[in-house]
Amino acid sequence: MRRETIAIHGGYMVDPTTRAVAVPIYQTVAYAFDSAEHGAALFNLETPGHRYGRISNPTNDVLEARVAELEGGIGALSVATGQAALHFAVLNLVEHGKNLVSVPQLYGTTYTLFANILPQLGITVRFAESAEPAAIARLIDDDTRGIFCESVGNPAGNICDIEALAEVAHRHAMPLLVDNTVATPILLRPFEYGADILIHSLTKFLGGHGTTLGGIIVDSGRFPWAEQADRYPMFSQPDPSYHGLIYTDHFGAAAYIGRCRSVYQRNMGSVLPPLSAFLLLQGIEKLALRIERHVENARRVAEFLRDDRRVQWVNYVGFPDNPYYPLAQKYLNGRACSLITFGVRGGFDGGCHFYNALKLIKRLVNLGDAKSLACHPASTTHRQMTPAEQLKAGVTPDTIRLSVGIEHVDDIIEDLDQALEACERVAAPSDNGIAGAARSAQ
Ligand SMILES: *Cc1c(COP(=O)(O)O)cnc(C)c1O
Repeated sequence: MRRETIAIHGGYMVDPTTRAVAVPIYQTVAYAFDSAEHGAALFNLETPGHRYGRISNPTNDVLEARVAELEGGIGALSVATGQAALHFAVLNLVEHGKNLVSVPQLYGTTYTLFANILPQLGITVRFAESAEPAAIARLIDDDTRGIFCESVGNPAGNICDIEALAEVAHRHAMPLLVDNTVATPILLRPFEYGADILIHSLTKFLGGHGTTLGGIIVDSGRFPWAEQADRYPMFSQPDPSYHGLIYTDHFGAAAYIGRCRSVYQRNMGSVLPPLSAFLLLQGIEKLALRIERHVENARRVAEFLRDDRRVQWVNYVGFPDNPYYPLAQKYLNGRACSLITFGVRGGFDGGCHFYNALKLIKRLVNLGDAKSLACHPASTTHRQMTPAEQLKAGVTPDTIRLSVGIEHVDDIIEDLDQALEACERVAAPSDNGIAGAARSAQ
C-alpha cells in the first residue's frame, strides 16, 4: 500500500472480538490468563498475547504497526513522549562507558539529554563540529556505538545527508539513529537511505492537532546485531533480567525493538496511554493531506517573507539559494517542510517585539500543529545554552521559527504583516541604515 493508504488502514482491519471498524480504545491494565500454563507461556514469550499494560496494549499495537509500516520498518515501540523515545533508543544501544556521536543541530531538550543527563549514566555524547560526514567520522573511536542526527533539524531546518551518514556508520559497523519528527514519513523515509533506527515525537505532525504527547521508536530490522556481538553483546548474550533470553534468537531481525520493550519499557515504564494512541491514530489518518497543505502554505509564507524589506533574512530550504536546497531535492523530493526560520530587525529585542505582536499565530514551543505556531528559541527552547552553543545549534538571538499551519494562507500572511509593522514602529528610525547594511550583507 502507498503511504496515504497505510496512514488510514495500516495495522488494523476490524476488531477481532467486536467487529468495530474504528480502532477501539482498550482502557485496561491487565489481561486474563486462561490457565497457569497460558500465563507461563505468555511470560516466556512463547505465545503471542498481552499480559500487562506496561508492556503492551492492543490500541498501542495498531499505532506501532501503522507507524512501522509508514516508515518501512519491521516493528515499533510507542512510549509516553518523544524524549522518552530518544532516551530508550540510546539506552538500548550505548552501555555505560561507551559513546554516541551526534550532529550539533538538535532539538533543545535532546541537546540537554545528550549533554547533561546521559553523562550522569556514564554515556557520553560527542557533538561534531558540523553534520559533515568527515566531521562525524573524526569523533568515532573504539567505544562509539552509534551515530545520531535529526533528518530535518529543529529549529534550524537543516537537512542531514542521511545516506552519507549511514555509510560512515556502517563502515564503522554501527547503526545510524535518525529523529524523523520534522520530516515525517510522508516527506522522507530514512530507512530508504540506510538509517537503522528511527525516533519520532508523535506530539508534532503525526498527531497534528496539539492535543496529545507521544513518542515512538521504529526498527528497520536490518542492522546485523548477531554479527557485531562483540560490540553489542546485549542482543546476543543471555539476559539475566529475562531468565537468560537471547534477543537475536528470540526476536530475530527485530532484536533491537524486542529488547527495548522487554528491558526498558518493562522495567522503566514510559507507557503511552491507550487513549493517546487512539488520538494519535486519528491524526495520522489525515497526515498526508495535512502535510500537502502545510508544505504549500509554507512556500507562500516563505515567499512573502523573502520579498519583504522588513525581514532581515529567511531560511527556507525550498529556495534555490539555500545551502540545503540540493539535500531538500534529494531527500524531500523537491518539497520543503513547513518550518521556516527568519530574523527581524533589532536582534534579541526585535525578535521579542515581533513575537509579542502576533495575533493569529500562537506563541508557544511546539510544531506540527494544524494551527500556525511561532517560537523565539533564544528566549525559550534554547535559553539554557550559551550564545556559542545556540549558534552551533543554528539559533541566533533574532531567530523566529514558524511552523506554518493549514489555515487559509492569506490569514497567516496578514498576521505576519501586521506583526512586522508593529515591530517597525518600536525599532528606532536610526536603525534603518544598519539594518539595510546587514540585509545587503546577507
Ligand atoms: C518535540 C521534539 C522532540 C521531543 O518530543 P516530545 O514529544 O515533546 O517529548 C524530539 N525531537 C524533535 C525533533 C522534536 O521536535
